[in-house]
Amino acid sequence: MLSLVSVDKRFGKLSALSGISLEFGRNETVGLIGPNGSGKTTLVNLVTGMYGPDSGQVLFRNTDITNLGAHRIFRLGVARTFQNLRLFSRMTVLGNVEAAQYGTRGNSFIHHLLRDGLAKGSIREKAEWALETVGLQDVRNRLADTLPLPQLRRLEIARVLACDPELVFLDEPAGGMTPAESEDMARLIADCVTPNRTCIVIEHKIELIVQVCARVCVLNAGLLVADGDPGEVLSLPAVTDIYLGREATHA
Ligand code: ADP
Ligand code: MG
Repeated sequence: MLSLVSVDKRFGKLSALSGISLEFGRNETVGLIGPNGSGKTTLVNLVTGMYGPDSGQVLFRNTDITNLGAHRIFRLGVARTFQNLRLFSRMTVLGNVEAAQYGTRGNSFIHHLLRDGLAKGSIREKAEWALETVGLQDVRNRLADTLPLPQLRRLEIARVLACDPELVFLDEPAGGMTPAESEDMARLIADCVTPNRTCIVIEHKIELIVQVCARVCVLNAGLLVADGDPGEVLSLPAVTDIYLGREATHA
């Protein structure tokens, strides 16, 4: 479904990703973990076309998408949420989910303007369905910037669901949440996001990763240091050392 082949990405002298080769299978749910600055978001940015790698290739469904550009990669069925949230703060909750769908197959903004009410209906219907799925239907007419963080993260999930992508990246979907809120988020991801699609989930909250993912990849300083069954990977000394280091520096 998705392959990274010897991918390197540098920012100036800093190697954000070095020689990363990874395969993700159809409908697999994979956790991507590692300390801050280890290259997790960079990997998402590379696959989703925010920028290209310095070397190496990205293949999606056996098509080379290296340097294809974000819009075209999105149209192929690749969607993501953002660690730092990318929402239209002065737009309604519903408007945010409708806007997310422009650019999906057959739903360019121009098409949308030119078409009759039918297309608009389907964008609206998908948005309403997605908001109901994440439990935001009651706040759909509020401006996005009036929602608290846990609801904003749910709104990002609704935007993804409305586009019905085949491949999804969730970048710290439980960031800033209480344990109870992250438990709710884990359930939402497992029930509504991961079934029938390939998902890569970045999260520091290991309980969420364990609950949602059948496989875990660990990055450290731009290198892939472990990949496999969560129980095994998370008990490797190399991984516990990294995490103890992270806890120490962030406590
Ligand atoms: P993570 O998501 O694992 O916390 P990132 O992928 O965001 O890590 O960052 C990896 C490294 O690359 C960090 O050292 C970060 O400062 C650096 N970095 C990320 N994006 C940029 C950028 N656009 N310009 C310069 N440095 C960057
Ligand atoms: Mg990040």
